[in-house]
Amino acid sequence: MNILYVSAEVSPFSKAGGLADVSGALPTELAAKDEQMCVITPLYSIVDRQQFGIYPTGMRNQIMMGNTRFQYHIYESHREDNSNHRIYFIENTQFFDRSGIYTHANGEGYEDNTWRFLFFQLCIIDLLKRGVFHPQLIHCHDHHTALIPLMIRAMEYPASVLFTIHNFDYRGHFSEGDLSLLPRDIAKKVRQFDHTEWSAMAMGLEFADAVNTVSPTYAEELLTQPGLSYELHEKLNSIQDKFSGILNGADEVYWNPLTDPHLSHHYSVKDLSGKKQNKSELQQYCGFTDNPEIPLVGSIGRLVESKGYPLILSSLEALIDRGVQFVFLGSGSQDIAQGLKRFSEKYPKQVSYHGEFNESLAHLIEAGSDMFMMPSKFEPCGLNQIYSLKYGTIPIVHHTGGLADTVIDWDGKFGTGFVFNTYSAIDFLHAMIRALDTFSDKDTWYKIQMNAMTRDFSWRASAKAYQQLYHQLTMGR
Ligand code: ADP
Repeated sequence: MNILYVSAEVSPFSKAGGLADVSGALPTELAAKDEQMCVITPLYSIVDRQQFGIYPTGMRNQIMMGNTRFQYHIYESHREDNSNHRIYFIENTQFFDRSGIYTHANGEGYEDNTWRFLFFQLCIIDLLKRGVFHPQLIHCHDHHTALIPLMIRAMEYPASVLFTIHNFDYRGHFSEGDLSLLPRDIAKKVRQFDHTEWSAMAMGLEFADAVNTVSPTYAEELLTQPGLSYELHEKLNSIQDKFSGILNGADEVYWNPLTDPHLSHHYSVKDLSGKKQNKSELQQYCGFTDNPEIPLVGSIGRLVESKGYPLILSSLEALIDRGVQFVFLGSGSQDIAQGLKRFSEKYPKQVSYHGEFNESLAHLIEAGSDMFMMPSKFEPCGLNQIYSLKYGTIPIVHHTGGLADTVIDWDGKFGTGFVFNTYSAIDFLHAMIRALDTFSDKDTWYKIQMNAMTRDFSWRASAKAYQQLYHQLTMGR
């Protein structure tokens, strides 16, 4: 089947979070299952064209946004030597020549994000109109691509559309002014909805042939907790029949301690000595005492409140008193960054904060830490806890969304991590203390590591679920 896979981030070219990891790995897995995957994404100036062999195709055209004409140019990566898996980029310097993907360095979104991603979607519609691509199915991701289902229906294009939600918190709201940028017939359709539903997300829910999110528990939570699906709670419930949850997987080579290209010391469940070397490397990198007996806790993530940083910041002092070492990697909110920085300045031998996007360091933290904290308030799927499990780095997580679907609480007999049920600092602290107490019992800790590292988080099962959904949708057409 010909599939057009449209995403605002694709690893390894561009990445802000988990969407990139999924858009890098899932099409690869589907191409291996004989689907014709054509991935298309913006060509941000941060993408290394030379490293990834990205060249202009010569295809270019213009689209209208409001009364203004904008040019785009199609590039292709020649990195993949696989005719089943092509990767195309849309280039326009005005919209994509930035130092980040969505935000300024201070974590604030670009003021023209609505324009940028509307432009991206209009280019895709233009390419379809011109017959450059002939997909039977279009797979859209998050609000940056969520107007495509409506535009596809409006032009009666003969393809099915699947819309995947990676995070319901970002819905892409439209103001009255934004609507004037849309083609007139599309703006008219949007206006038929209640003003509160003027968002790309609402249109995705309404017009896609099927909608899914990235874990079964998050799907259930969105349907049952109005606090998570906001103004679209009723709408989401009204489309239940076409809504499901499919758990993300992890790339089997790139996020595998035996083959990870970023690690100097590889290891597997059969021999964890490489993990000890990674820990020593990480302790030295952070300027900590290089000692295998001291528990080392890692944390990687976008600095946003929903990732549970308020719980971490209010429990950190108590945990530092217990002699624990912490390494944080993340950028975003200035407040959270300041909080972490203050701790790292006060306790330089125990807290190390890296306010940057650093892919290699992320891999070293996964491999070198003993534990990984991820007390998210909600979590659509979460990938870092999955990577942690694979790397024998025991996760401490809140029982929510994909965290609940992937981490099994250690009950004294079986488990792969430490899970707390109520989103509160005290419950998080108790889970951390439980983990730290267990860490001092080496045999038990090793048992939990074995349990975690032998679980299957490959893309196989999830890719099969997507493939079935693709075929079901196109058969019904
Ligand atoms: P989300 O998609 O909500 O950001 P996920 O856990 O699903 O969270 O995925 C986050 C991905 O982004 C992981 O691959 C993680 O390692 C990566 N990541 C997040 N922040 C950073 C950072 N500062 N440096 C390197 N990688 C990061």
